[in-house]
Amino acid sequence: MQQSGRFVSGSRVVAGLCFASMTLAMIAGCSPQYSTAQGLTATQASAATPSPTPSPKKKPSMPGDLKANELGRVPILMYHSVGEYNTKYDKHGLNITPATFRKHMELLHKDGFYPVNMRDVVEGTLDVPAGKTPVVLTFDDARGSQFRYRADGSIDPDCVIGILEECHRKWGDDWQRKAVFYVLPASKYNPTPFWQAGKSEEKIRFLADNGYEVANHSTSHRPLNRLSEKDLKWEVTFAQEYFKKISPKVTMDTMAVPYGIYPKTKAGRQLLLDNGNKCVLMAWGGASYAPDDKRFDRGAVLRIGNDPGEIERWIAGLVKARRQKFEGMRTYISDGDPSTLTVPQSMAKYLAKPTGPEIIVYNDLPPAKPKTEIKAAKKPITSG
Ligand SMILES: [Zn+2]
Repeated sequence: MQQSGRFVSGSRVVAGLCFASMTLAMIAGCSPQYSTAQGLTATQASAATPSPTPSPKKKPSMPGDLKANELGRVPILMYHSVGEYNTKYDKHGLNITPATFRKHMELLHKDGFYPVNMRDVVEGTLDVPAGKTPVVLTFDDARGSQFRYRADGSIDPDCVIGILEECHRKWGDDWQRKAVFYVLPASKYNPTPFWQAGKSEEKIRFLADNGYEVANHSTSHRPLNRLSEKDLKWEVTFAQEYFKKISPKVTMDTMAVPYGIYPKTKAGRQLLLDNGNKCVLMAWGGASYAPDDKRFDRGAVLRIGNDPGEIERWIAGLVKARRQKFEGMRTYISDGDPSTLTVPQSMAKYLAKPTGPEIIVYNDLPPAKPKTEIKAAKKPITSG
């Protein structure tokens, strides 16, 4: 049976107190103490407030012997073209076949991944079924193969949106309509978003109306390390205004930097965050830290590139790392309850200051080894 300690914060202080006072003593000394929004530690709050009858949450059942780990790694996959016409399939995976993309989605679904948007990750609103691992599918540049209408007005079943919609039809609640499109506005630098004249606004509205995230990939797609602060600001804000005018549901508040190239100065990097971006994504780095892990840097979020075979390798590695214990890379596994954050004791040291959910720490540490007993003196050997 797992031991658990519950730290409470903000409005959840009262509801969680009984359980907290019961279990805090058990884990005191081996876990950090967190301040509540009122400036009390959970223990102080417990002493100061009368405890109402607790209403224990029904624990979601976890598949197999999996245990939740909401500080594990989250894969954020980076794609560009899928079945682009008149372009070679290249060695960096910038243009992969629809068959390869379908294979990735099949693998992710079979292996218990669940699509979410980048905003869900950074806003702390991850709502993922118990036992599943969130995955963020990202698509850069608003390329034609990401969203294409056919002559009869239907969505091309082999473009990215066609394939994602097919996944949702096949798998229903197991595959919500979420993915992030890091788009570029039409300008002297770029053709119309998704490269189909007269259709781009309809496409942006379709994405925003159906759960997909429309997000910022700059205005011109120039490397951001060569620009003045004034130009940097324009790169962020022109694109925001351009797409927000198309639909009020467009959010444009996360950003992927073009080529993965950051502004040179710290002030320039901060400028990206100060101008309406909840986070900024790189173009490499592997699986991201969880948003509540203190190593998560919202100014430089890691992504997994798509060199041939890379995504398959990461999926296999993260599946294996679900059962990794104690040390090494471990995978995010949802507890199924968005109002709680479940963390194994061995990872509690990485927990960032909590801002919302109740925190449940359970003991996954190996049992302490019993002290070696002094062996009883051997019987004297007697000659017979
Ligand atoms: Zn790009």
